[in-house]
Amino acid sequence: MYKIMTPGPTAVAQNVLNARSIPCTNPDLDLTFVEDYKKLCVKISKLLDTRAETFILGGEGILGLEAACASLTEEGDRVLVINNGVFGRGFQDFVQMYGGEPVLFTGDYRETIDVDALDKFLAADSNFKYATLVHGDTPSGMLNDASAITKLLKSYGILTVVDAVSTMFGDALDAAYIDILCGGSQKVISAPPGLTICVLSEDAKKAINDRRTPIRSFYANLKVFFDYYKEKWFPYTMPISDIKGLDAAIENISCDRDILQRHAKIASAVRKAVTAAGLRLYAKSGFSNTVTAFKVPEGINAEDILNTMRTEHNILIAGSFDVFAGKLIRIGHMGNNAQTDKVAETLKALDDTLAKLGFNASAGLFDTFTENIW
Ligand SMILES: *Cc1c(COP(=O)(O)O)cnc(C)c1O
Repeated sequence: MYKIMTPGPTAVAQNVLNARSIPCTNPDLDLTFVEDYKKLCVKISKLLDTRAETFILGGEGILGLEAACASLTEEGDRVLVINNGVFGRGFQDFVQMYGGEPVLFTGDYRETIDVDALDKFLAADSNFKYATLVHGDTPSGMLNDASAITKLLKSYGILTVVDAVSTMFGDALDAAYIDILCGGSQKVISAPPGLTICVLSEDAKKAINDRRTPIRSFYANLKVFFDYYKEKWFPYTMPISDIKGLDAAIENISCDRDILQRHAKIASAVRKAVTAAGLRLYAKSGFSNTVTAFKVPEGINAEDILNTMRTEHNILIAGSFDVFAGKLIRIGHMGNNAQTDKVAETLKALDDTLAKLGFNASAGLFDTFTENIW
């Protein structure tokens, strides 16, 4: 069994595995399931400190992003797609698929979105039904100030969709101005992949209820969930074991008072270690505390780094994909993997790996990390 230090999926705690193996009832017919589901949804909204309503859908994180776009988009709607990363840009496909007209606001992929530049852009054109934004764009470790950006968008009367799949509970977020907030089970939450969380404001529900045309999807339709509690009915048989596991994982988070601080502390020490070693962080600003991406050093092959880590140290770290394929290495330090000992062990292995592949580090990753962890 490898140690998975990837930016999701993350290591799953034993109590979550145990919860997933509890004998299950029929979630369609046994009303205790509806109560348990509702309680879990309320607990998630509370942890996010929002009055918006949480729904849990059976499907991986991508389903949440698609469901948000499918449920809001009508033919010809203009949608602002805020793009400074792979997931950021990816939203345009969902918008287009459901008949919308995506308009890109593109930033430098190495810089966090400039809120003033966005404000200037919006002053000239703010005729958008909604805007999409990624809080933490995982392929590059880019963090955007979702709190400030959604506040700005709301001041222009634009609905906001935020992908916080990789950051939810790991990077601080004020959800007050977010209309649809998307999360996933397999990142900081540290449950296995398979569930997505969509948190909908009253404005989001109203926009969906007021549509002129039907939503062009069933599985990616958020509206079919709106009355589940009143009607004691779900649009499909809910994955009960996944939900029991999520409940245990959310309980772990709710008991973990310094989870944000721990992510910040570990991420900061990892960034210092990377820089001191003579490696180069990809981002120049906007660093997520859940993942660190650095450039593959000149003359070394990304695959060789990943393979050596796997075969000689039994640790999985990640490369990247799309425009970053072969160019970046990523260490996930999110959820259950945001632990000093796990990250230290990973960096020790990475020191050995890089040395073996001929990289001449100016300082040990492990040494700098352990010196800087407070
Ligand atoms: C992981 C992730 C998703 C879900 O997609 P995957 O298929 O698991 O890659 C969506 N958005 C972001 C930002 C993610 O990190």
